[in-house]
Amino acid sequence: MSLDIRDIADMDRRSVLHPFTQLKDFATGKTGDPTIVTGGKGIRIQDAKGNQLIDAFAGLYCVNIGYGRDEVAEAISRQAYQLAYYHSYAAHTTEELARLSDRLVRMAPGKMSKVFYGMSGSDANETQAKLVWYYNNLRGKPGKKKIISRERGYHGCSVMSGSMTGMSFYHDHMDLPMGLIKHTGAPHHYWGAEPGETELQFSARRAQELEDLILREGPDTVGAFIGEPVLGTGGITPPPEGYWAAIQAVLRKHDVLLIADEVVTGFGRTGAMFGSIQYGMEPDLITVAKGLTSAYVPLSAAIVGEKVYQVMEEAADRIGSFSHGYTYSGHPIGAACANAVLDIVEREDLPGNARITGEYFQAELRKAFAQMPIVGEVRGVGLMGAVEFVADREKKTRFDAGLKVGARISAAARARGLIARAMPHGDILGFAPPLVVTREEVDQIVGLAAEAAREVMDELA
Ligand code: PLP
Repeated sequence: MSLDIRDIADMDRRSVLHPFTQLKDFATGKTGDPTIVTGGKGIRIQDAKGNQLIDAFAGLYCVNIGYGRDEVAEAISRQAYQLAYYHSYAAHTTEELARLSDRLVRMAPGKMSKVFYGMSGSDANETQAKLVWYYNNLRGKPGKKKIISRERGYHGCSVMSGSMTGMSFYHDHMDLPMGLIKHTGAPHHYWGAEPGETELQFSARRAQELEDLILREGPDTVGAFIGEPVLGTGGITPPPEGYWAAIQAVLRKHDVLLIADEVVTGFGRTGAMFGSIQYGMEPDLITVAKGLTSAYVPLSAAIVGEKVYQVMEEAADRIGSFSHGYTYSGHPIGAACANAVLDIVEREDLPGNARITGEYFQAELRKAFAQMPIVGEVRGVGLMGAVEFVADREKKTRFDAGLKVGARISAAARARGLIARAMPHGDILGFAPPLVVTREEVDQIVGLAAEAAREVMDELA
């Protein structure tokens, strides 16, 4: 590094507006110095003080192939030397872009037709909202504009995607959600079920609530439903049994499109290439980002299904060109990076590792945590998992938020060299390691996390 650690920390504190950071505590130094990240290899990152940390959250569940893969850096560099940029407006393309798009259409579940590119999951979901409106305008149903998402769903932070996000702290003081977005109940049996209600009964009730909402709003006003196959930021919660089948029956009945937000679940995390495959979803539109490039460069995509695309193409003579796009849509470096990353995902069968090592991870997580008196639920699928801490297991009561139990356990893990994320909705410790993680590394992750939980449990006693 050319600057010393002190200079970097001071410069950063003066000038960076950090996302999801308590601004005053950071500005006054109460939360300490920023962590200066200098390198990464496999499932570990390194900071400027030389500390190695196991990254059991793969950045923000995105570095699926692990850090420091030379072949991806080389693909990025090769493309940068050959052609760093050209746009994809008015039918311009590159070999990497054509290859990636062909590959995504073939890989993706359901009958997909075309791929539109952005730079983040948020902007891809913004595109999805516009596609829903466009599609319904073009087929003569201009009233069908509302989009239903779930409480505790996470779809991003921009204006429409932030509105789709179903957690109020992403809305407060920011004038969200926008009126066209409606929320329905979270698919979480542990907190949402009535006493004695089975998962199947709970799923049927959630589907009925969705139908009631559609009927209340008027089916002619509802255009789409968006959901993550597995709730991510809202608590890493796999759907209850029968959930997606029951929800899709309602959507089909009322001519409502399904947008599968596969930003986290796409490209292997659940143990299948897509969460939609795992849960029998038949989406009309699919959102991908994160794992598409393993975050080596920013790239996202809205994958457009045949049904939606056909309406768009048929209207083209009448309405002219598709007037949506970004300077960086289909950026050649992003496309080259994604192709190199997907080569690794396929060659190393990372969905297979997520399934097999994931089963071991899920079992070890339960072994280590399920019996702890402060644990309410251990849950997950593939290589995404969570432990939810509660004050009283029998009565299912949460800890007082002021105790910050989840954040303290995450900090105790961090002090032991393990990054596991305190999820924002409750006292939840989340795990989503790179998909290249081994059994030995799973043992280290679970062991360190359990030690951290025991430390905080002793403090609470
Ligand atoms: N959708 C899901 C399911 C996500 O988890 C995220 C980010 O975590 C997003 C969308 C937004 O992606 P981005 O942060 O790249 O805008």
